[in-house]
Amino acid sequence: MPHTAAYKHYQPGESPARSPSRSEQTARALAQSEAMCRANGARLTRIRRNVLEVLYTCHKPLGAYELADLLSPGARRMAPITVYRALDFLIEQGLAHRLASQNAYIATIHGHGGETCAFLICEECGDVSEATSRDFADTVSGLVSQAGFRPRAKVLEITGRCAHCQGAGRH
Ligand SMILES: [Zn+2]
Repeated sequence: MPHTAAYKHYQPGESPARSPSRSEQTARALAQSEAMCRANGARLTRIRRNVLEVLYTCHKPLGAYELADLLSPGARRMAPITVYRALDFLIEQGLAHRLASQNAYIATIHGHGGETCAFLICEECGDVSEATSRDFADTVSGLVSQAGFRPRAKVLEITGRCAHCQGAGRH
């Protein structure tokens, strides 16, 4: 069964902190991520955890500089190299993906490290949803192993217009 999960955007002025269910979701996702890292013998340090928390809270692809700004409001901006290092770690652990077409980073929904997924990126509203299925993952794995290729990331980026934006453009 294919499934998609949408990252919802916040409206201007809407604070993620105002929605308890959303912050509960973030807390749960962070706890899960922490446990996953521990199981892999890796440590989710404070900085890595903070970067991941911002990615979970924003639910949209963020550039490294945007992340640096969000991580250090008002204060001196966190060094981008620090953010990049934390992002490298999160990608390695399967907790985040780099979207090459956006030059931006996004948290994975289920923390399915190494699993194949497709990101559906709306060029109009910027919405990103994640889609995957067993068949899709098997097909990609088959193609990759046929070529004798060892993949580091199995992420497909599909750009276009989301269902909502297509509806909005109808007359
Ligand atoms: Zn859209």
